[in-house]
This record gives sequence, structure tokens and C-alpha cells, in this order.
Amino acid sequence: MLKEITSIIVDGFNQYGLESVGYLIMGLCFGMFFIRSTQKRRFHLISVGCYILAFGTILLVILPALVVLNPNFLISFKGYDIIQGITVSLGCSFLGVSLFVSSLGMSAILSCVFLFFVIQVIFIHIFRAYFPEFDLIYWSLAACWVIVGLSFHLLRKAGKTSFFDRVGDAFFVLALYYIGREFNFISGTGWLPVLVFAGVSVTVLMAQIRFMESTCLSLEEDLIKERKRHTLFWDIAPFPILVSKLLDDTVLYINPMAREILKVSEADMIQFRLQDYFIDVSKRDELISLTRKNGIVDTFEVKMKSPKTGEIMWLDISSRVVELDGELALYMKLQNMTAQKENEEKLFKEASTDALTGLYNRRQFEAMSTVALANCVRQKLPYSVMMMDIDHFKHVNDTFGHDMGDVVLQKVADVLNKTHRDSDIIARYGGEEFIVFLSNADAESAKIAAERIRTGVEKAVIMAGETQVPVTISLGISATQNGDISGMTKEADIALYHSKENGRNRVTVFTEGMKGEGDK
Ligand code: GH3
Ligand code: MG
Ligand code: MG
Repeated sequence: MLKEITSIIVDGFNQYGLESVGYLIMGLCFGMFFIRSTQKRRFHLISVGCYILAFGTILLVILPALVVLNPNFLISFKGYDIIQGITVSLGCSFLGVSLFVSSLGMSAILSCVFLFFVIQVIFIHIFRAYFPEFDLIYWSLAACWVIVGLSFHLLRKAGKTSFFDRVGDAFFVLALYYIGREFNFISGTGWLPVLVFAGVSVTVLMAQIRFMESTCLSLEEDLIKERKRHTLFWDIAPFPILVSKLLDDTVLYINPMAREILKVSEADMIQFRLQDYFIDVSKRDELISLTRKNGIVDTFEVKMKSPKTGEIMWLDISSRVVELDGELALYMKLQNMTAQKENEEKLFKEASTDALTGLYNRRQFEAMSTVALANCVRQKLPYSVMMMDIDHFKHVNDTFGHDMGDVVLQKVADVLNKTHRDSDIIARYGGEEFIVFLSNADAESAKIAAERIRTGVEKAVIMAGETQVPVTISLGISATQNGDISGMTKEADIALYHSKENGRNRVTVFTEGMKGEGDK
């Protein structure tokens, strides 16, 4: 009995074993490669077809042995033929239909498979009834592989890789193999079935590789097209754009309008990094951290420069953080504010300075000295206010003319500019009066500064033709530290009055005792 079963199995394996292994390998080829590359689940049906066929051929090996073991297992020994026929039909249906209509959805394919399967089963029954001498399995398999072969030729027509034609031909060879077996030209053992199945599997694999190659190529082309489209949109954008990598400041793109403002050429773009465009690099850090924090910055006024020409410009930046090719980038829309800022600066200058001397006017002095005084109080530094007035200026005007008077005013301003420290605030207070706020200066050092100015003016040479115009100034200082700029101005004015009273061309420091006299 055991001997009989073993010999049946060995016999079955000799006949169908290689084929079942062949189908398993083909199922793997389809499953592992063809399906994965497309990532479409409906392509899984193609490998499912191969696995069903493998299962069917394994049945061919096992079923006869089972029948010997238990004769009731199937009504007749030929019954296995029906089971095998059904399995083969199902496998073929899966393969043929899923390939044939692979562009349809999953449910459409499944219904087609079912329909095709029913037709095949009916066909097998009719065929068996009329031609009992034919082996249904071989004919059915041959028909299946013709359909699969045709499907691959159709896939090729749908614009896929030309290698699909070869796959179609390989399946035609498989169909021929089964016709050969039907007519006993070919046996299931030996090198030929191995060669046929190996040939088909390799061709399927090759098709897969080609298919992936062409898919990758078309993906790459799509990417290039997409890039070009982006660049085109940026190129024609009616506003200046600059895009840089957040990570390392690399400039990714500057559109033509922005290149014009920043005075860089297309070739310069990659040469400079974003920070090269900032005069103050901390401003770049501020912009980036603001954009990172809020996602959007609508307006950020900043002084920038062309890294190539060094030209300075005022820009208003609105920025976003965007993802570009998987990396974070800073997308900036620029607006050139240079003309507007220059105009603002001009207007500010006109409103805050005196046209004749270029010194601050009285209003600007009051604003600035209030801030400076508060700073000194905070830092516990002494401060002073110094008033000065040109002596007998009326006389200068009367003797040498008003224009000469203007020259004298300019000359005094000149001396003040040359003798002051950076922290001093100098202004023309009105007419021929000047005022200075001195930070970090007590009465003593203010007096030294005042003397320097006084002698500077005294020594200044101003010529009216051949005649030298004699100019002197009188000065008054308040260093009372009373925290009130207008109070100290008044005190300095009282001290100045004292200088005038005591013969002019001198410096007087305010003392509390002078208060009553100033009211006179
Ligand atoms: P004192 O030594 O007492 O200061 O005599 P002073 O003549 O300088 O005094 P006063 O204040 O009477 O004269 C100021 C003169 O300064 C009167 C005015 O015509 C003249 N002045 C004021 N502003 C200007 C100016 O912008 N240009 C010229 N050329 N003269 C000016
Ligand atoms: Mg005066
Ligand atoms: Mg005067």
C-alpha cells in the first residue's frame, strides 16, 4: 500500500512537480517585483493566479495518492481531474483577467474573474462531454497562457515598456509547451520544462526591471518639468522673490526682479549666502526666528546690501517658511523701500535740523536731551547744560551785512562740531544762541569744554574781504542735576546773562545765588 502511494506521488511529482515549482516561482516573480513597483493592489491578483496554479499542480501530485488511501475520498479516480480543472480555471481566470483589464478597479476585476471562471468551467464540461479523449488540463493551460501572452502584448500597446512583448511571447512558448505535452511530444521531466519555466520567470523579471526603469525615468522627467514650472512662476512673478535654505543659508533662488534690486546676476546667486545680504547679521537671525515662531512675517523693514557691489538698500520683507524638496526654506517677498526711506530721512532731517548750520533745532534738542538726561540718571552719571550767545552779533550784521552774519553763525557751528564729544547734543537754540547737553560731565568738566569752545571761537579767523570779523561768545552752564531739562536751560541762561554782564567772552557756572538776579 505504502509502496503504491509512494510510487504514485513520485510518479505525480515526475509529471507535475516541476510545473508546480515553476508556478510558485512565477507567482513570486509577479508578487515580489511586478506588483511592488506599481503599488496597485489589483496587480496582486496576477500573482494570486500563479499561486492558485501552483496549488492546482500540487493537487495533481497528491490527490491520486489520497484516492488510493481512501477510495471514498472521491467518487472516482477521475474526480481529481474536476478539482484540478476548477483550480486551473480559477488560476487562469485570475491571471488572464487581471492582466487583461489591469486598468480597471479591484472590484471590477474580481467580477470579471468570476464570470470568466464560470465560462471556463462550463466550457471544460462541454469539452469533456464531446472530446473525452483530450486532457482538459493541458488544453485549458495552453488556452490560459495564450490569454496571458495576449494581455502582455496589449499592455505593450498601452505604452508600457517594449519588453512586455517578450513576456507575451514567453507565455506563448508556455502554451506551446502544454500543447506539446498533450500530444506527448514533451514529457514533464527532464531539462525542457525547467528551461521553459526558468525562461518565463527570467523574462518576467527582466520586464519588471525595464518597467521600473521607465517609471523612474518618467518620474524624473515629471520632477524636472515641475521644477521648471515653479521657476517659471517665480520668474514671471511681478514682485521680487528670494528663497534660501533655512538650515545653512544657501540661496536657492532669486527671481529677476529681486536680482535687479540686490544687484546680483544669475551666476552670482549661488555664490553668496543669505547672511551676505544683511548689513547687520543679527537682523537675519531676528527675521528667521520670527518667521519660524509665527510661520509668517508680513512686514520686516531692514537695511540690506548687495554682496557684489556693496550698494545699500532698504527692504521691506514678508516671509514664510515653506517645504522645498523635503527641506525647510525661507520664502521672502522683497519690497524696495530705499527711495521712501531716503525721503523719510530727508523729511526727518528737515524737521529736526537747522538749515543754515546743520545743527539740531530746538525741538529736536529737547527730545534728545530728555532721553540723554534719563540715561544719565539711570547710570548715575553727572550731566550739564551749556547755553551760549554770540557777543554783539547785531553789530556784526550791521557792520558786515546779514550774509556775513550767516557765515559767522556757520563758523561758530563749525567750532562746536569740532570740539564736542560724540555723546554731546548740540543745537541751534534760536537766532545766535546755541545749546549743548553734556552727558557724563559735572560743572568742572563742562567748564573745561566751554572754555575750549570759547577760545575756539575767539581764535577762529573770519574774513570779510580784507577785514577780519571779530567774534566772541558768552557761555552759561548749569550742572545742578535737578532732573529737569527746561529748568537747567533757564539756569544756564541766567549764568549766560552773568557772562554778558561781566564783560562778555567768558564762561559762568550757575549757582543758586544767581536765581533772583535772573528774574530781574
Ligand atoms: P549781545 O552781546 O548782548 O548778545 O548782543 P547782540 O547784538 O548779539 O544781541 P541781540 O540779541 O540784540 O542780537 C541778536 C541779533 O542776531 C539780532 C538778529 O538780527 C540777529 N540774528 C538772529 N538770527 C540771525 C540769522 O539767522 N542770521 C543773521 N545774519 N543774523 C541773525
Ligand atoms: Mg541773543
Ligand atoms: Mg548776542
